[in-house]
Amino acid sequence: VVTLARHCHARGWAEATSGNFSVRAGSDRLLITASGVDKGQLNERDVVLVGLDLRPLGPGTPSAEAPLHAALYRSDQRIGAVLHTHSVASTVLSRRAAASGVLRLAGYEMAKAIAPVTGGAPPELCLPIFANDQDSVALSERISERLARSAAVAYLVEGHGLTTWGPDPERARRHTDALEFLLACELEAVRLGGPLAS
Ligand SMILES: [Zn+2]
Repeated sequence: VVTLARHCHARGWAEATSGNFSVRAGSDRLLITASGVDKGQLNERDVVLVGLDLRPLGPGTPSAEAPLHAALYRSDQRIGAVLHTHSVASTVLSRRAAASGVLRLAGYEMAKAIAPVTGGAPPELCLPIFANDQDSVALSERISERLARSAAVAYLVEGHGLTTWGPDPERARRHTDALEFLLACELEAVRLGGPLAS
């Protein structure tokens, strides 16, 4: 968890206290960054153990956005790590594309890092966008309902950030790296008068 948080902070995707990071700890528990900790100062004492029902299992207060992580782990036993970043690109593009409810990333070779294809063109990635909500339980319920009907690999919250996951911390981090690269490309493209594709 600490390594994931430091990785994202170092790249400018989790400035100050923003962002939160978790790893599954067995079938019914997760380890998550504590509430209100600067991601540039994080250490092992700032990681909190909670159940997937969010009951505390050790000292510390989990991130206020822990319900968003727990909902993903409950929805799919194969999910082993969840990264939530507040990058410039995810914040800006999620606002820009909010009206359509989805951000499409098309024509990027890097998409293969997230959705591998054998030969042929890179796939189009569709990231659902949800309206922001300070009630993270209510937000997690809206997200779970929509994700259950899609094959999304990540989602955006409007004006807020990106959430990505994977079967283990290494692959979840790789998904985040690839998606943040794609979002940075898309932001540059918009600056140059090009896509948003829709
Ligand atoms: Zn957040």
